[in-house]
Amino acid sequence: MKIKPSTFYVVATPIGNLEDITLRAVQVLKDADIIICEDTRVTGILLARYDIPKKPLLPHYKNQEARTIAPVMEHLRSGKTLALVSDAGTPGISDPGYFLVSEVVKAGFAVVPIPGVTAATALLSVSHIPNQHFYFEGFLPHKKGRQTRLKFLADMDCGVVFYESTHRIMKFLAEILEYFGDREILLGRELTKLHETVFRGTVSGAIAFFDEHSQKGEFVVYIHGKIDS
Ligand code: SAM
Repeated sequence: MKIKPSTFYVVATPIGNLEDITLRAVQVLKDADIIICEDTRVTGILLARYDIPKKPLLPHYKNQEARTIAPVMEHLRSGKTLALVSDAGTPGISDPGYFLVSEVVKAGFAVVPIPGVTAATALLSVSHIPNQHFYFEGFLPHKKGRQTRLKFLADMDCGVVFYESTHRIMKFLAEILEYFGDREILLGRELTKLHETVFRGTVSGAIAFFDEHSQKGEFVVYIHGKIDS
């Protein structure tokens, strides 16, 4: 594979198990001049695992993406190849990426996807709940607009995918029970990791299960669409 100069590659990385990365992603990370990442330590572990030679890491953070634009443009203008990664999964999917990508596109440089893992599609791939159509919500807003969003989503005629953190999962499930009712749910905790758990059942069943089992880790949740009564 030949990497192109003045090109911005968007590279998916694992969501846990470091072996979940494509051969092409490893090659692009090896060949890129600069890697744009979130936590340099997290990316450093991945690079070491695949013997990727040390190279400049340009950190960029959620809500501060504008800061990265000037150096990114400068590098692209000087012919450098850049690779954007996030801490886990696909950049731009509930992660920084969109803003940088849109600016790079506006400036007329090529943006190339190097596809791979996303927690949402990993869960959907093992879904027993219909998934021909689905809606990806990701994280709900923490405060303002949360109830409005929940009401809107509860009315959808397809399943809805949510991301949730360890600290909020029980509150989230209680809200889902309140707004969606006791629907069928598929819940993935720590997918691809040592303590991977896949729960299938009802929302009330999930609450009872995670009351008794560890709530530690990262959660991706898929809820059945509205069922007309
Ligand atoms: N860019 C990532 C992707 O492609 O899925 C998502 C990043 S977002 C900041 C992190 C959230 O994704 C977590 O809070 C959790 O909801 C979900 N997530 C990431 N890794 C996961 C895993 N191994 N198992 C379950 N959910 C995960």
